[in-house]
Amino acid sequence: MASTSLTTSNLTASSNGNRSSERTHAVAIASARRSRGFQRPTGSDNAPLKVSEYFGCNTFSFDLMEKKIKSSEVARLKEYATSGEPLNREIADVVAQAVREWAVSKGATHYCHWFQPQTGATAEKHDSFFSFDSKGCAIEKFTGKELIQSEPDASSFPSGGRRSTFEARGYTVWDASSPMFLMQTEHGLTLCIPSLFISYSGESLDQKTPLLKSLSALNRRSCEALHLLGHTDVKYCVATAGPEQEYFVVDDALGALRPDLVLAGRTLLGRNPPRGQQLEDHYFGSIKSRVLSFMMECEQELYKLGVPCKTRHNEVAPNQCEIAPIFEFANVAADHNQIVMEVLKSVGKRHHLSVLFHEKPFAGINGSGKHVNWSIADSNGHNMLEPGDNPSDNIRFLYFLAATVKAIHDHGAMLRMAIASAGNDFRLGANEAPPAIMSVFLGETLDEVLNKLTDGKSGTLTERQREINLDLARVPVIARDNTDRNRTSPFAFTGNKFEFRAVGASASISPSLTFLNAAVADSLEIMNAELRRRAGERPSIEQILTLIQETVKATKKIRFEGNGYSTEWHREAESRGLPNLRTTPSALKVLNEKHTQDMLDRLGILGKEEASARYNVFVERYNKIRLIEIETLVEMVSTQVMPAVEGQITQQTAAAESCTRALGKTPKGIADRLTATAELYSSLVDRTGQLQSFLESTSSSHDEEKLAAKLAGEGMELMENVRKVSDELELLVDDSLWSLPKYRELLYIL
Ligand code: ADP
Ligand code: MG
Repeated sequence: MASTSLTTSNLTASSNGNRSSERTHAVAIASARRSRGFQRPTGSDNAPLKVSEYFGCNTFSFDLMEKKIKSSEVARLKEYATSGEPLNREIADVVAQAVREWAVSKGATHYCHWFQPQTGATAEKHDSFFSFDSKGCAIEKFTGKELIQSEPDASSFPSGGRRSTFEARGYTVWDASSPMFLMQTEHGLTLCIPSLFISYSGESLDQKTPLLKSLSALNRRSCEALHLLGHTDVKYCVATAGPEQEYFVVDDALGALRPDLVLAGRTLLGRNPPRGQQLEDHYFGSIKSRVLSFMMECEQELYKLGVPCKTRHNEVAPNQCEIAPIFEFANVAADHNQIVMEVLKSVGKRHHLSVLFHEKPFAGINGSGKHVNWSIADSNGHNMLEPGDNPSDNIRFLYFLAATVKAIHDHGAMLRMAIASAGNDFRLGANEAPPAIMSVFLGETLDEVLNKLTDGKSGTLTERQREINLDLARVPVIARDNTDRNRTSPFAFTGNKFEFRAVGASASISPSLTFLNAAVADSLEIMNAELRRRAGERPSIEQILTLIQETVKATKKIRFEGNGYSTEWHREAESRGLPNLRTTPSALKVLNEKHTQDMLDRLGILGKEEASARYNVFVERYNKIRLIEIETLVEMVSTQVMPAVEGQITQQTAAAESCTRALGKTPKGIADRLTATAELYSSLVDRTGQLQSFLESTSSSHDEEKLAAKLAGEGMELMENVRKVSDELELLVDDSLWSLPKYRELLYIL
């Protein structure tokens, strides 16, 4: 680190309590920081290890289990992980002993059930391995019972009314489909046991349980489909996922001086600097050394945890980056993405970087998404969305493609609901992110193939269609080369998988995967049933193709190859009858609708009461986030912006008086400048007063749904009004009076 006398600890001392000089000091600190080194794993000869030599060293993987427990038991665990075959208590005892020996030998003192309540974050409650044996001697102990289940009480997690506090029992249950891992901090290791969180009566209280249920629903319908298509040797199917995680980094000395970043995760004020992203020099640009060393340390930690990081690069906006893994089974990918976010945050601290996952941390600059790449793999390792080299593989490809398009067609509104959040509202529909209207992009070639398929009448194949049938063998060549990318589509086919691009950067990927799996399971179920009804268990290629054709035809309105950002598309989508749910409160309602709840219930993913409870949780969460933002904004403006403006007016008044004395009159320009500042100041006071009154009016609101609509409408508008004036004032106020780090500092100093 370069020598500098400035440190965060003497920051306050040297600033004499003057907030704007705190900003100057923070800028100096941030500018002086250099990249920070970190310890690399080394082998016995002290040479750095290759990633392949230490990958997964902190996970209790199947390979490790093979060395410690019988292979028949490992096989059972693998079966659980792929097809959800139930496990018995004996196996838990065996695994508990093996994992305890391993964890303790690595230095772990505690274990925890690591789970994902409906807060979007993860939760953990640590217990020590330390215990007494029957003779009162101190020992390390861990039983199968402790591995399987824990009762964290957990009455403070959101349940949407499914658990009243007097019977607040919630259980965490070992999810053996995701590997246990050792979470490392500076001072020790804790064994984390991926777990589900359910109520006393068995209802899901977390993000993970519905995901596993959706995987099981999809597994069943996919296998049925494959058996009907003649692939009778397939034993199971699993959804695969690869989430590309976008984020911003900001020096933490600067970030700490922004109450909005600290409390709301996004800037509620701040004028765009003259240079934003218009030079387009950040995307894939060379990575600043401070950021690169942070990324490398993150990757190293993630490799140890078995997270297969693959890609790192700068994103479009200044100080915006991306990390993407190699795809995995969706349940593991969901856990791993949570781990990625946690590791980025914690390693960021070591590098004095605040990592921002908010979907829109800076107005006027690109926000952050999480493109969730998704497909389905079968037990033979085939990708259902990989166009094959022969007609039979292509029939399979087209069947699953048609089912996915149908899923978005039938449940587009539900998928919009799945990605709804207070933060994502700023992204969806803005001129940088997919619109709030769900549509599917297939690429020109594939679109043409499907259009050709539906030429002519359904029923028996015409000569022309027979030709196309043979043509199908050529789909792969074209599709694989298809580099055609539509960045404006919320759901795009990218060669051998779909990319769900509308997911927000801060969200857990579990809900979007859950609802996507559910939608596809539903359309497969409908298609399978129809095929069986027409053709029994052994349909002919022609019968299958006919069904594909009909499905493609009936779902055409959801396919859109054009610019999703354009106003023409909004008009076109409206004429096609596609829902455009602009705000989170309007999108969330879909979860409370009968159509959605019936489907989720029928597929065994969420019971009706569970779905309604989840709806309540999401609405409350939206309201809480907006209320925090409003309160923070009022406080920042009242305690930081207004005092700065008042100082400015005092200075300007004194300057105007001096000029008047010197010149014998007040020059018009000077008088106008003072008037402009005073008028904006007066407007800021009024608008902040209106926002404050609005905030007070919400405290009497007991109807969360009505409150959500009020916050999304009037609340957002009042916040925007305050911001607009404050941002104008930022340009009029003496820079040395402005205490909040400015956009140019947050976005350019690293
Ligand atoms: P992009 O060009 O869209 O930025 P990236 O290479 O950054 O693509 O990310 C693509 C992601 O898609 C990776 O995480 C990759 O592992 C994942 N992926 C590839 N194939 C599949 C698949 N069959 N199922 C799910 N995800 C996949
Ligand atoms: Mg990428």
